[in-house]
Amino acid sequence: MPTLIVATANKNKVKEFSDILSCYDSFRILSAKDFPDAPYVVENGKTFYDNAGKKATQFAFYIIHLTRSHKVNLSYPIYILADDSGLEVDYLNGAPGVNSARFASVSGANNSTDEENNKKLLSLLNGVPDEKRTARFKCVLAVVEINNVAIENIDALSNRLKFFENICEGRIINAPRGSGGFGYDPLFVPNGYDRTFAELGEELKNKISHRALALKSFIQWLKETKPTK
Ligand code: IMP
Repeated sequence: MPTLIVATANKNKVKEFSDILSCYDSFRILSAKDFPDAPYVVENGKTFYDNAGKKATQFAFYIIHLTRSHKVNLSYPIYILADDSGLEVDYLNGAPGVNSARFASVSGANNSTDEENNKKLLSLLNGVPDEKRTARFKCVLAVVEINNVAIENIDALSNRLKFFENICEGRIINAPRGSGGFGYDPLFVPNGYDRTFAELGEELKNKISHRALALKSFIQWLKETKPTK
């Protein structure tokens, strides 16, 4: 059975990926939480693509090293899947964007808490009318397939990257609502709904979110290009 490793230790993302992937019984699914010694990746790219690609290739390189030195026994093919995602607010010219996790951090280097980020977002949108509060969540998934062919360096891995992007359009409300989800969920109402992601519940969010849709494209690509016998 192929292995799929979600290269994130973010517990919220891991939970969403596991829930969305639970209907696919064709992989052994692991995450970065199963590899506590995996290298920490500095997310200093300018785009979601840069960061997702960096996370996928560095994690893949680490897994190749582990498998070659027989420290783990994983069945091939091994798919390494990394997510870089965030919120783009039109009134703020696309901010926080790639800096979504660090939006309220003074240095911009460390992640800030969800509460701090949400507070900053609300203060920047203070007084902005509803029709100008349009926004979207974006998710870029970077995938590397590892098989038992020798790969010597990160550049060789970068050439094998495949990307899947999707978005969820919506708007930012004036005060947080709901207790589900994570990040900016309490402030984001997806188009076609009147409740926030934090109010809609996991099951619905995992059908319509940027992450769910990007993951669906990845699964579709797998089915088309690597049909199971
Ligand atoms: P990164 O992809 O780890 O750099 O961080 C993504 C950041 O974007 C998170 O820390 C959240 O602030 C935000 N974000 C991404 N996806 C979601 C989501 O589904 N709901 C709410 N916030 C999200």
